[in-house]
Parts: sequence; C-alpha cells; structure tokens
Amino acid sequence: MKTLIKAGILLTMDEQGTIFEPGHLLLEDEKIIALGSPDKVPDTAGDRVIDFSQRLVMPGLINAHTHTPMSLFRGLAEGISLFTMDGFINCLRRLEGVADASMVPAAVEVSCAEMIRTGTTCFADQYFYMKDIYPVVDRSGLRAALAYGIVELGDRDSREREIAAATAFLESLSQHPRIKGWVGPHAFFVDNSEEIIALELDMARRFETGLHIHFATSSEEEDYCQNNFGVSAVSYMKELGILDFPILAAHAITVNEADYGMLADSRFTAVICPSSSMRSGFPAAALKAMRAAGINTTIGTDNVANANSYDLFREMDIAAKLSVYRESEPGAVPAKDILDMATLGGARALGWEDKIGSLEKGKLADLIALDLTDIGWGPKGAQDIYTAIVYAISGMHVTDVMVDGQFLLKDQQWQTVEYQAAVQQLNQDYVQLNERLS
Ligand SMILES: [Zn+2]
Repeated sequence: MKTLIKAGILLTMDEQGTIFEPGHLLLEDEKIIALGSPDKVPDTAGDRVIDFSQRLVMPGLINAHTHTPMSLFRGLAEGISLFTMDGFINCLRRLEGVADASMVPAAVEVSCAEMIRTGTTCFADQYFYMKDIYPVVDRSGLRAALAYGIVELGDRDSREREIAAATAFLESLSQHPRIKGWVGPHAFFVDNSEEIIALELDMARRFETGLHIHFATSSEEEDYCQNNFGVSAVSYMKELGILDFPILAAHAITVNEADYGMLADSRFTAVICPSSSMRSGFPAAALKAMRAAGINTTIGTDNVANANSYDLFREMDIAAKLSVYRESEPGAVPAKDILDMATLGGARALGWEDKIGSLEKGKLADLIALDLTDIGWGPKGAQDIYTAIVYAISGMHVTDVMVDGQFLLKDQQWQTVEYQAAVQQLNQDYVQLNERLS
C-alpha cells in the first residue's frame, strides 16, 4: 500500500540539509519511495493520505545508550553518583541485588512508552535480563540494538554460562527485521578479563555485530592500561583487536586527545550522555574536539535513575549548552550538528546509516511529526528550524511516531504499548522492591 504524508515542513536531515516547506513523502509499506515538494510528489500518488500540514516531519531520534529496566530505580539515586565505585556498589548493586526478572517487563514497557512519546524510534540498550527485555521491545515496535550484558564473574563455569547465554540470545535475533543483538560488556579492563574480551570479540565476529560498553567515564581504564601495559587504553584496545569492531562507547569523557586519530579511523562512536554525567558531577566530554577530529558522536539518555528523562529533545538541548559552557564559546557545536548526532550519528553508530537516520528515497519510514501550532517555533524566518528543535521545543511536541511505516504513536496516543497498565505494575514492583530493601 502507498501512503502519502503531506507535511507542513519536511526536514530530511540528508547530507545536503534539504528542507521542503511544504513537503510530500510517499511510502510503499515500510519504505520511502519518493519525497519532495507537492508539485513533484502529487496528492494522487498515495492510496491513503495523511494530513500533517500543521506538523513538521523529520527522522525519528536514536537514543544510543539506555538501560531500560532501570526505570524501576528512577528516583532512588538522587544525590548519588552512579559513576563512582561507591555509588555503583552501595546504590546500584544494592538495588539490582533485590530486583528480579519479574520486575523487568513493566519497567521496560514504561521506558519504551516514554521513548515513543518523546520521538525516539530506535535505541541501543545494554543490560542483563536481556531475554526478559526483548519480548517487550519486540511488541513495542521500536527498532533496537540490544546488547546482552556480560558481567565477568571470575570463575570459569559462570563465565562459560554467560557466554553461552549471550551467544544463544544473539543467535535468536539473527533473522529479526528490526532488532539486532549486540555484545554488552559493562566496561573493558575495569571488570572484564582479557580472556573474556577475546570471547566477546569472537561473538561479535560471528554475528557481525558490535560491542556496547561504558568507556572513559573516569580515568579508570586509562590508569589501568598505563600502569599494567605502559600504553593508553585506546592503544591497548587496538592491540587486542577491539577497534576492528563497531564500538558504542557511552560517556567518553576522558578520552586521551592523542588517541583521537585512532578512534576516527575505526568504527568507534562516542555516546554523549550529558544529563547523566552532569547529575553525577562529572565533566563534559570534549564534544567539539572529538567531532573536529572526525570521531562519530551521538547522544544517549543513559539510565533514568541518573538522568530521570527519556526525552532526547531535552538531551540535545543540554548537550549543546554543555559544549558552549565547556568551550566558553557560543555555538560551539551548532544546533544542526547536535540534531545530526541524534539522527544520522546514531544510525552510523549502529551500522544502519543506509536504512535510517534521514528521510531519503530507499530508506525506511522511521519518522516523527511535531506540532507546529504548539509553542516555541516563532518568529518564522528568524529562528532557524534546527535551533527551534534543539533549544525551543521538547519531546512533548511529538504527535506521531512511525517505525517501518507503522504508527507507534498516533495523535499522541500509544498504539503498541499499554502505558497506564505498565505504570501501575511498575508502582507495585517498586513497593515490593522497597520492602526487600528495608
Ligand atoms: Zn550506562
């Protein structure tokens, strides 16, 4: 079936920065088959017509670092940095120690609902409990890269069990049209032995996938590698063959500047999570310098125990302002570049740049619509569209969300998730969690 979308503004995010005002987008099932001004793509082209003449249509946002079950812990890390060993062990590990698999589905459904509501169409998750996360994500209709969390447990039996379970998970997703399995070591060097890193790389090679990790959150890896091997963490990653694979590196706050060239030459992506690092009292990543060096950069929310919100519009706003603040330079990273990070940058990170990240002929219809009659857009002609999107509006302007040409949100109503039921269950799970904590 052919669907014609009539957009008030069609923001493509293609390489040329093409904007049609108004613009028409023609879909055949899940694919974009034509787009342009109304005289090029006429009203008669579609079997059905969707009237978004009061809306801006743009590519869906990509959240490149999440831990979806952690919605259960939202509010429980206030005033605590989960980036420090103390916060990690005494807060997070304590919570994770009393939570169980039965509490995962509701938390993941709430996370998916919040991402959909605020215009995210694709996300990269990393956590354990992946086999409990997957069915909820599958039902939500979101596109996802699900990294099976691997925690090095020290003894050979548990290590083999972890690797076998991760392998089975990746195998189960090998034919999935929308969801891809990734490998999810928590962090290299900090809590993974070289032996398990070798096994993880074997797995990534076999399933043609990448590794989703935390990297350079603090100088832990750098110090460890300098002290033990006499080289930087990035050099050691190269030595071990890690940089031959796509790497989603959450935070990337303390990356050694001398190593930028090596990272730019590999499929490494620095995933900036500004709220999470700010709320933890950690410095801002060198976003401007990493981008200038040619490193792929993108944005994630991280867990909402730290960051509290899944709204990537807010996260773009904060990322842009934080880079201005860091550099003491207005416009340090322009709004258009920030939006590029949250769309094409995310697609590149996941190896899906030929499918998503921009609205172009041949790509998939992963798109969102924003209400142009709502606050923040004007005056027309003064504030450019990228500045409005990054600084003036929020995810609550999103009215519609499509993945693969299917509505996940229609007129601000969820189509695939049961938000109220999931929140009720989340509240009950929290009561139980709290009882176990006391
Ligand atoms: Zn994280």
